Amino acid sequence: MFASVDIGAAQTACALATGAGQMVAERTIPTLAHEGPDAVLNRVASAIGDMALAAGQRLLAVGVGVPGLADFHRGRALFLPNLPAGWRDLPVTDRLSAKLSCPVFLLNDARMAALGELWFGHGRNAKTMVVFTVGTGIGGGVVIDRRLRLGPLGAAGEVGHQTILPDGPLCGCGNRGCLETLASGPALVGEATRLLKSGHAPHLYDMVNGDADKITPRLMTQAAAAGDSSVREAIVRAGRFLGIGVSNVITVLNPELVVVGGELAAVGPLLIDTVRREVRERVRLFPVEKVRIETSALEDKAGLWGGIALAIARVKQPAGPPTPEGI
Ligand SMILES: [Zn+2]
Repeated sequence: MFASVDIGAAQTACALATGAGQMVAERTIPTLAHEGPDAVLNRVASAIGDMALAAGQRLLAVGVGVPGLADFHRGRALFLPNLPAGWRDLPVTDRLSAKLSCPVFLLNDARMAALGELWFGHGRNAKTMVVFTVGTGIGGGVVIDRRLRLGPLGAAGEVGHQTILPDGPLCGCGNRGCLETLASGPALVGEATRLLKSGHAPHLYDMVNGDADKITPRLMTQAAAAGDSSVREAIVRAGRFLGIGVSNVITVLNPELVVVGGELAAVGPLLIDTVRREVRERVRLFPVEKVRIETSALEDKAGLWGGIALAIARVKQPAGPPTPEGI
């Protein structure tokens, strides 16, 4: 049996799967990150330990995703901006491996989702693909010749931190005008909040009873459909920025496939069609009709599937340590 763990700021998803990639059990537990990494990892270990026990199977390997910078080759979390302190340079794989008595492998959560898309999603038949995971932040992963590109740390593929506006908003990474500051969930909701408070979003106002804290990208889509043209424009603007980011990556790699996943993929055609249109307008050097741009088929489980893929890949292809070229 192989296990997958996707650690999020609020919730941690766990899954168990066979070596053939069949998911047999799933469980979501609260992360309770304020209790510190030891408590979080203890809870993770007992959850998947219990699941393996219930399945009557021995664990062969575990893939773990964390929301932030992680050193894949050393199995250490480096910087997790959405979790409280205590994770810096933490040997996550050693800690979990000691508790579970099996190998554990660590990846950034968006990279793990990209691996999920490659093995189990739209990427099953693709050789070259790029994944954009658009949620609280914008992460991603780059696949070349069916290998997820890692780079020296496992940090390659940070497509959300490409500069789109030279003097744009300050990003969490320290740069200005990153794609993440313009097209992530918080960027979109922030713009809707401004519109709601300035009286430009009457339908959205009714949907949340005037409470801006209740705005979600999905509600924004409903408000746009109900007639809030300013909300519609905000979604289209975010889609154009995302489309510019996707165009830049297509220009560099000419992949067969781009997958847009994460919370914002649920916005649907208004966003993804804008991305497709922007790509057709921006990429002029070569034909892009054959570059498929799809929303994720795995939705919020791409990371879980990726953890299973990571665990299986590292056990079945253990020809030495993986290189920066990828898994
Ligand atoms: Zn950035």
